[in-house]
Amino acid sequence: MIIKRANIRGYEDLMDIKIENGIFSEIGVGLDTTYEENVIEANGQLLLPPFVEPHIHLDTILTAGEPDWNKSGTLFEGIQRWSERKESLTHEDVKKRATKALKWQIAQGIQHVRTHVDVTDPELTALKAMLEVKEAFAPYVTLQIVAFPQEGILSYPNGEALLEEALQLGADVVGGIPHFEFTREYGVESMKKVFELAQKYDRLIDIHCDEIDDEQSRFVEVVAAEAHRTGMGEKVTASHTTAMHSYNDAYVSKLFRLLKLSNINFIANPLVNIHLQGRFDSYPKRRGITRVKEMLDDGLNVAFGHDDVFDPWYPLGTGNMLQVLQMGIHATHLMGYDDIVKSIDLITINSAKAMNIEDEYGIEEGKPANFVLLHAEDEFDAVRRQTPVRYSMRHGEVLAETKPAETSIRLSEEEDIDFRK
Ligand SMILES: [Zn+2]
Repeated sequence: MIIKRANIRGYEDLMDIKIENGIFSEIGVGLDTTYEENVIEANGQLLLPPFVEPHIHLDTILTAGEPDWNKSGTLFEGIQRWSERKESLTHEDVKKRATKALKWQIAQGIQHVRTHVDVTDPELTALKAMLEVKEAFAPYVTLQIVAFPQEGILSYPNGEALLEEALQLGADVVGGIPHFEFTREYGVESMKKVFELAQKYDRLIDIHCDEIDDEQSRFVEVVAAEAHRTGMGEKVTASHTTAMHSYNDAYVSKLFRLLKLSNINFIANPLVNIHLQGRFDSYPKRRGITRVKEMLDDGLNVAFGHDDVFDPWYPLGTGNMLQVLQMGIHATHLMGYDDIVKSIDLITINSAKAMNIEDEYGIEEGKPANFVLLHAEDEFDAVRRQTPVRYSMRHGEVLAETKPAETSIRLSEEEDIDFRK
């Protein structure tokens, strides 16, 4: 197969890509198509590595309104609604919802997903279901499962043993939630346990870290210090870190030195955090998103996740990473022209780096032929018009296809409108 005349980041010219045996075999200008049966004319459209969803909760997904809607829209009513819904959680229920959501994500051009799964459950119901889903979807999606102790490691009965059991069953990543533990001391101790387990089982780490408006929540320094001490660095991710928006600048300047030394990754979740944070503020209200712009400027690796889709914490969403990006760049002041163009990294290569999947990710000769071709001429156009994914291809096979909407207006005569300049 050959893709003709695609706009690929990092190349000045429109490029042709040859795919053989599911691998990018050649990238060049004007490749010979004489003997090719399968040629796709990209016509200057933007070709990217697949979108990545690095932070989602597939076990709670698609449960909004069951048994009742979150009417206040707060985190705490979300927790209350989830505890009601959790009573009817079954193996089949989790599989059915996660399967549907993964199909939505595939339709949106996502091929790599990291899902957190609640393991504060003596039966580990959701985890066992998700492991089966992971296997079923293996040909289509790279799925990493985080053993996520939603109610704490030391603050939930048997929390540590359940976390370890989840790793033995096959979870890929160790999770944690230090700011939710009963005390700061528990929070620090829980992080030590996470690092011990990750080293014992050779797993990655992804912590729900400081997802609170409390400026005193400073577990990100503990995570970074442990990552530095153990040398686990880039295998470690701090998700949310929303308290950082409230830290004083003197502390942040000290903190950033450690963050750089530690080499850890950051995942912000703009849709959910702008919705749930700042709820105890009157005015001025904080935006509730970590210091994305400053971290990027300092060379730290930052990615964006959706976090929740249509569940008790976040009622909207269809798994579209361009929507996540849209909110994220507004809320973090990444709206300069160059910022917008570069922001595509936040839902592609930066996320792949956080997931430690760079070996299999990217538009390069010799790598798996996984990519998306957008109905967009460049990155700016994709973000501005929120263009759908024309093709999502995995190992050179079509995984998803979307035809663009056709709109016309009827004034003095009929005219097609595509929102291009
Ligand atoms: Zn989360």
